[in-house]
Amino acid sequence: MPGTRVSVPFGHQKAILGIAISATLVEAAPAAAGSLFTNVPTKQTNKPTHKLRSIHHTLEANPVLSKELLALCRWCADYYHYPLGDTCQLALPAILRKPVSMPKNKQLFWVLNSAGAATLDASLVRAPKQQKALVLFKQLKKINQNQLQQHDINAATIKALHTKKLLDKQEFSEVFSPLNRPSTLLKENALSLNYEQKVALDSIVFDQFNAYLLDGITGSGKTEVYLQAIHSVLNDNKQALILVPEIGLTPQTAARFQNRFNVPVATVHSGLSKLQRFKVWQAIKHNQYPIVIGTRSSVFSPLNNLGLIVVDEEHDLSYKQQDGVRYSARDLAIVRAQKLNIPLILGSATPSLETLNNALSGRYQHLTLRRRAQTQSLPTIKYIASTNAGLGEEAKTAIRQTLARGQQVLVFINRRGYAPTLICQNCKWMSQCSACDNRMTLHRTQPKMHNTRQYLHCHRCDYRTGAPTKCPNCNSSQLSFLGSGTQREEEVLEKIFVDTPILRIDKDSTSQKGRLEELFQQVNTGKPCILVGTQMLAKGHHFANLGLGIILGLDQSFFSSDFRGAERIGQLLTQVSGRIGREDTSDDISQVLIQTQFEDHPLLQQLLKQNYYEFAKTLLSERQLTAMPPYQFIAIIRCHSPRAELAQEFLQQARHQAESIMPPHPNLQYLGPMPATVEKRANRYHFILQIKSSSRLERQQLLKQLCQQLEINKQSNDLHWLVDIDPQEF
Ligand code: ADP
Ligand code: ZN
Ligand code: ZN
Repeated sequence: MPGTRVSVPFGHQKAILGIAISATLVEAAPAAAGSLFTNVPTKQTNKPTHKLRSIHHTLEANPVLSKELLALCRWCADYYHYPLGDTCQLALPAILRKPVSMPKNKQLFWVLNSAGAATLDASLVRAPKQQKALVLFKQLKKINQNQLQQHDINAATIKALHTKKLLDKQEFSEVFSPLNRPSTLLKENALSLNYEQKVALDSIVFDQFNAYLLDGITGSGKTEVYLQAIHSVLNDNKQALILVPEIGLTPQTAARFQNRFNVPVATVHSGLSKLQRFKVWQAIKHNQYPIVIGTRSSVFSPLNNLGLIVVDEEHDLSYKQQDGVRYSARDLAIVRAQKLNIPLILGSATPSLETLNNALSGRYQHLTLRRRAQTQSLPTIKYIASTNAGLGEEAKTAIRQTLARGQQVLVFINRRGYAPTLICQNCKWMSQCSACDNRMTLHRTQPKMHNTRQYLHCHRCDYRTGAPTKCPNCNSSQLSFLGSGTQREEEVLEKIFVDTPILRIDKDSTSQKGRLEELFQQVNTGKPCILVGTQMLAKGHHFANLGLGIILGLDQSFFSSDFRGAERIGQLLTQVSGRIGREDTSDDISQVLIQTQFEDHPLLQQLLKQNYYEFAKTLLSERQLTAMPPYQFIAIIRCHSPRAELAQEFLQQARHQAESIMPPHPNLQYLGPMPATVEKRANRYHFILQIKSSSRLERQQLLKQLCQQLEINKQSNDLHWLVDIDPQEF
């Protein structure tokens, strides 16, 4: 049956995993990278039937992929030009990607045996704990670990009863019974919507496909609109899928959904173990979760009765996978909703230019929320002069005033570590990574402990080494720091604001499990403190008492060669500002200070005088003039090799092949081969060939043929290539 896992013989390997996709099984994929799937429908037709091998055995009777998901995987394989086997893999939990049977969902129970049942409670009067347990066992017959904890029965008590031969140990497999509809769906009352929210909600048609852009400024109450839309979906006995950029960062978001409804809500993210992921997947498949909230790969959640998909913060880069199959979860969500004929809501305060363009051209319905739900005002934004590195005087004064008012401060700097570079004052040596085109960042271990160590870390290839105390080049001891990162700002702030807690939030400070929640709890007390952090702080958080935001280190983004650079700056500034003054009662006090040397830059001026929307429209007209996405469709062939000339040659060849398939014309251009934005990474040279077309269809047809030709070349450690459709970066 299509979608069933099967074990198939392959080459010298005894068995690999396959997914049956039609009555005749297709051949298995090369097992080199451990991607053990049947795939490549094209090969199916090429093979004479006698060459097809037969299946060893099916691993489960029931399909792991529904027809609907299989179709989505096919679409994904076609559009992104990857083997179907690879895209099916995306839709399965890791545990199911090997040709072994599904983990048994067994649970351990303690069961009262006949001797136990015959024992009088009174006989245990000298052991009150055992007596209490016996009474409970007589009621419940069997009890699992969770229940033991719930009833405060400890292991010693159980052991004693077991020794007395009154209890037996038994495993039972979990059975999924249909979920009972709660008598009332709402756990808490819904808020009464303001006018804009109501117009937005009323515009949504629930029984057909439509894409809605919910374009609402930060704090305008987009989440409340999602919640009420989900309510109407649940009312219809259907399910809802909510995609979020990074759930670990925003536990509050998941909590808001859990607090609203009397139905189980699944949260799926990278913090789960493989087994946990499998269990959630299985429970979702058995209709145990009417609401699923998850990150990128959750777009493949095996919900059987979807009625709505929401993509929150749709502009977020994390929706595009940057290794393996380079798919965009946002775009797949659109396809999934379309195939299911259900509505899709794309929400953002800073929509991507692609989405905005679709809304402006009428392909998506544009719903706008232009006012904050709880306060009348947005913070005032001001550009202030930038000193070389770190906080200037004006910023320090503002921090003092904000703390004195009893409010909190956010200092945003998009660099973790102590300083981006170590430099020798004498010979100008800099801490360059020898394997990459990249400076190594100086970090300090445990800044608050006595024996602080310094080390250099390359954020591209992850290489770490102790920081030198003398210049490796000229032996001078005049080493100093260039620039500033979160650790250094934390140190500066600690010296100035001795009595105020300084909370650093970045990848390093939150690597320990539970640490991020701790930090958030401290912020949520509302007591004055200073948050110092990276983009982890820019995303969707709702902190009630932030009265001031300071943005440092913006200027480096102006030197980005990426065509999306300006879009990113606008999104970042708007999102960081959006964290400020969310529940401000005293109007016009909250503010955002941006330290920059480019305050006259037209884009910054436009952001200040108008808003993200006007800013984005200006960028759109620029993109149209320069023939860039969303007005052109781009694909990149990426290639990397330890030898630059190999990668270049491969792409040169690819260009010739492409040109002979489709000669260039004004609306179809080939650019390159050229070095990728970061050419050297971990001792490998990265090159790209860009294909730009005004027709998506033309681009797809070209790539289909081109990929077939390129596939003849064996990938090896010496040469690796891949296709990146609608790339986020060059
Ligand atoms: P967004 O997702 O657009 O950033 P949120 O949904 O987080 O905004 O809303 C911001 C704040 O406003 C939240 O505290 C939310 O509870 C509150 N809020 C939203 N809608 C309303 C409403 N209609 N009435 C009162 N408060 C609201
Ligand atoms: Zn030197
Ligand atoms: Zn490196």
